[in-house]
Amino acid sequence: MDLFFCVSLWKRAATRLFHIAMILTCLSVCTVFDACRSTNEKAHVLIVTGGHDYDREEFKRLLDALPVTYEHVEHPHAHAMLKAGVIAKYDVVLLYDMPPEIPEEAQSDFVAMLEQGKGLVVLHHALGSYPRWPEYTNIAGGKYHFSQWVKDSTVCPPSEYAHDMTFQIRVADKNHPVTKGVSDFQIIDETYNRIETLPSVHPLLVTDEPSSCPLIAWTNSYRKARVVTILSGHDEKAWQNPSFQKILTQAILWTAKR
Ligand SMILES: [Zn+2]
Repeated sequence: MDLFFCVSLWKRAATRLFHIAMILTCLSVCTVFDACRSTNEKAHVLIVTGGHDYDREEFKRLLDALPVTYEHVEHPHAHAMLKAGVIAKYDVVLLYDMPPEIPEEAQSDFVAMLEQGKGLVVLHHALGSYPRWPEYTNIAGGKYHFSQWVKDSTVCPPSEYAHDMTFQIRVADKNHPVTKGVSDFQIIDETYNRIETLPSVHPLLVTDEPSSCPLIAWTNSYRKARVVTILSGHDEKAWQNPSFQKILTQAILWTAKR
């Protein structure tokens, strides 16, 4: 009787141990699988346009050349994509839009998305988005001012642009993942001047071109998100530049935390 009881106890303990081992094995396999999936899969990008004209065919050619997967949404449908349940499947949002207004609900969704750590790339004219939403300046790390603005009690003139400038861009931080492997380069592009940049941003690209502000690209951190703002990128003359493409690709991967 005692022997039978002991054998029965041992069998029950062995069965439990076997079940625990199976559960632990499943958990570790799932974790390894998820880790492999997150590092091997291409970054999935939501491209946002609308509110500013651009060459659609050439821009698509640029996007297709990047080593990422992407979906493209245009305003007024873009704000609905920022909702928590919808934006979850994207690693990065790339803004190439310039809408004048953002509803309060979309403001909350935008900030909540960055609070969750979603990557953000602000490209070229997207710096001019939402001029009446002050938080967007804190997100992008700068602002294109369409009219006079005041800084430390000084009245500053509006921001300016100049098309088709040929100029030299210098890499300010050669060790940053966004600029790694990129040498100083020449580009034909529109320049922005007299824009506002926050003192907290980290410079990536700079220029001495007189028609341009000194900073061409920078990183910013906002809540849990990595943000990269790149002023270059008006049209295919910039988009086809290999250095521009490399920086844009590395900006997407870095903001995606890849
Ligand atoms: Zn432009």
